[in-house]
Amino acid sequence: MVAPGAVIDTIAAISTPPGRGGIGIVRLSGPQAASIAAQLVRPHQPLEHARAQLADVLDTDSSETAPIDEALVTFFGAPNSYTAENLVEIAAHGSPVVLELLLRRALQLGARLAEPGEFTERAFLAGRLDLTQAEAVRDLIDAQTLTQARQAASQMGGALSHRVAPAKQSLVELVALLEAGIDFAEDDVDVTPQTEIARRIDELMPPLTALEASFARGRIVHDGLTLAIVGRPNVGKSSLFNRLVERDRAIVTAHPGTTRDLVTERISLGGIPIELVDTAGLRQGQEGAQANLEEAEQLGIRRSREALADAALVLVVLDATQPLHDEEHRLLAAVQGRPALVAVNKSDLIEENPAHAQASPQALDGIPSLFTSALTGEGIAALRERLLSLATGGGAAEPGMLTNLRQHQSITTALAALADAAKANAGGIPHEMILLDLYRALWALDSLTGQTTPDDILNLIFSTFCVGK
Ligand code: GDP
Repeated sequence: MVAPGAVIDTIAAISTPPGRGGIGIVRLSGPQAASIAAQLVRPHQPLEHARAQLADVLDTDSSETAPIDEALVTFFGAPNSYTAENLVEIAAHGSPVVLELLLRRALQLGARLAEPGEFTERAFLAGRLDLTQAEAVRDLIDAQTLTQARQAASQMGGALSHRVAPAKQSLVELVALLEAGIDFAEDDVDVTPQTEIARRIDELMPPLTALEASFARGRIVHDGLTLAIVGRPNVGKSSLFNRLVERDRAIVTAHPGTTRDLVTERISLGGIPIELVDTAGLRQGQEGAQANLEEAEQLGIRRSREALADAALVLVVLDATQPLHDEEHRLLAAVQGRPALVAVNKSDLIEENPAHAQASPQALDGIPSLFTSALTGEGIAALRERLLSLATGGGAAEPGMLTNLRQHQSITTALAALADAAKANAGGIPHEMILLDLYRALWALDSLTGQTTPDDILNLIFSTFCVGK
């Protein structure tokens, strides 16, 4: 963190990912950005704000005068740049040796290697972005699905900050009202009645409570979920897994117990990243039978129990042509109360095998279920839909959702402080004391956007960015 009034140094980094690429970008930001750049490249035209210019990349490591590459150089003058400082981007060919030469030379000329996220941190410190927007920059870069990218883009545009702004404004007005009553107590300023304070606090609660509730969906969009596929051997877990993944990943054979280890694959269900875990067939085994299992398979079973314990969602797979096994009853009992779904698979075989067919697949042992056939694809679309609504708890996407624990913490702290203020007010406690709770709520709302976020927390946040961003 740069202390206010400190001399700002110039930072430099390679902003494109390591390795070879079509182009690679070296970025410089700070007072010396332009003067350092002028010693790295020779632009064909004088640099102008926000205009890309062709330039020769100088081979500063040798006495050769011939350029080592050609680049596009863009200069952004303070304060109209990403960092609000002088900023230069040199887009050369993506040769790691050329990019490293540029970076090394920039460091020799007085630049400092940028910390992860330092360009964005500077933008934040300059007030160009608030903290939720800065976090959104990172989220956009990290997005694995378009839905996540859209969510990040909307937050980058200030959706979350805009959503808290009205509540914050009302809170500031309430604080001002109470402060005025205290400051001018002797000057005949009316003391705000208890009912008025109660009304104003009451009005603040619903929008903040709704915001707090948005975390259920926002967190899932941001982080994704793990789905464990469990069931006895040979019921079709791997085949369903492959159907969901839509390509062959897990090995399918007609012999029970072939999925010995955990196979995981990430899919996008309605834009939510879901890590599928195909577990080895869970088998309790009768006396002695377990001893015959190969060691690897036992390890697989243990891992699948762990996966089952860790997963946010569980898909229990049963064979539609087989009567429910004791072990399957135990499995269904084990997932009671958890977000779980039962796929009664091999529905295509029911006609041939009506004797054993599961009667009603609506709900088995109280867990919602449906018929599927991994062979014909019947019920797979419905399975995806049901899994998605299970994942999101049925909640709809909305603008300005809370997506991380830090944001959620700010809102729950604000709500708790407001509840304390309401209680103090109802108890007829002096306004000075109510104000303490209100300031606590205000501080929490300000920390969401970064106005009152302590430096160590800020450093922690920006350290999760990549270098050069
Ligand atoms: P797992 O041990 O539970 O992972 O089961 P697999 O996915 O390896 O499938 C076991 C056997 O059942 C394989 O021969 C599959 O081709 C077959 N199978 C899986 N799903 C279906 C289905 O829906 N219908 C039919 N007829 N066969 C299936």
